[in-house]
Amino acid sequence: MIKIDQISKGFDNDVVPVKNLSAEIRKGDVISLIGPSGTGKSTLLRCINMLDPPTSGDIYFEGQKITEKGYDVTALRRKVGMVFQSFNLFHHLTSIENIMIPQVVLLKKTRQEAYDRGMELLEQVGLGEKALQYPAQLSGGQKQRVAIARALAMDPQVLLLDEPTSALDPTMVDEVNAVIRKLASSGITIMIVTHDMAFARDISTRVFYMDEGIVYEEGSPEEIFENPQKPNTIQFIKKISSLEVDICSRDYDFEGLRKTAYELMGRMKLFGAFYQNAVLLLDEVIHQILFPRLSDPFRIHLKLIGRKDGVTLCFEYSGKQEDLVSLIRENAALSLIEVDQDERLAISCRIICGYAEAMNYTRQEGELGNLLEIVVRGES
Ligand code: ADP
Ligand code: MG
Repeated sequence: MIKIDQISKGFDNDVVPVKNLSAEIRKGDVISLIGPSGTGKSTLLRCINMLDPPTSGDIYFEGQKITEKGYDVTALRRKVGMVFQSFNLFHHLTSIENIMIPQVVLLKKTRQEAYDRGMELLEQVGLGEKALQYPAQLSGGQKQRVAIARALAMDPQVLLLDEPTSALDPTMVDEVNAVIRKLASSGITIMIVTHDMAFARDISTRVFYMDEGIVYEEGSPEEIFENPQKPNTIQFIKKISSLEVDICSRDYDFEGLRKTAYELMGRMKLFGAFYQNAVLLLDEVIHQILFPRLSDPFRIHLKLIGRKDGVTLCFEYSGKQEDLVSLIRENAALSLIEVDQDERLAISCRIICGYAEAMNYTRQEGELGNLLEIVVRGES
């Protein structure tokens, strides 16, 4: 549907955020653009709908070179809808008028046709009752849903969304995400810049990680989030999805650790008792399993890695190697329900206190001598 061929985009201030970027977007793709800020994600979207044409290189839309001099950019804008972080609604117009005007002006529809389609779209985003309200009377989430309805009124073939929930109060993110989620499954081609990694992982068919002016790495959500291949992607994913600390004293600030861990869960959108319990479990393992068996001085290198379907708790610790199977057996908090046949020490455990429903537990040797890895799986 869209072919981007070696485009670069530079600004007067000599900043060139996009350098020789090539990519292809297929019909029905839902692509999340992720990456550190300032890596040209917004710039790329603005190039694609020619709000801000590239300085060099070409873009093709269904085979037509849209970067060609004389190409009808207005026709392109009808096919490529855009939704901004800041809504960009007309403040002196009601919701329905905001949606009607572009249909009348660009699609040459009658006011009645534009009204009917507008109402249909407002219903679709759950705002049928807000048709006559002005933007100032709407919440941020409602404004953004009107903006999405307005973009859809052009019956675009592609919808570009630039951080559509970043300016919203956290309580309103879900209502907007729900609308985007529904669109994503409706078959419309979508490109969305987002910092909401759990959402990106959920809705995307492909993820573009942007860095160094290009689509630095692309892949399925699983490939990018679970198994990135290139150094910058690996570093980025690690930074946003994990927590690593060294514990060398029994007086460690566990309160602070729990708080940081909960923040990570929030960032990964891993909500629900299950994940809270994974944090409690972390505490439990350290206090009940490791501390009693470690003699000073010791070091526990803790890694907490958030995943789509759970959390991995990784405890690397120095000290005498213990038989962790018997450790777990001995421990009052854990009840062993199944030991893997192949002696790789993959054990499913259940925590009596109801901390986790199912737990995968493996032991290997780590850098500090011992490695205990617990994978807590669950639904949010
Ligand atoms: P992202 O969306 O990935 O955070 P942007 O595409 O907004 O990144 O910006 C990339 C870089 O280009 C930034 O350094 C930004 O300051 C710069 N930039 C973006 N728009 C302009 C502009 N109109 N004029 C000058 N510099 C710009
Ligand atoms: Mg941006």
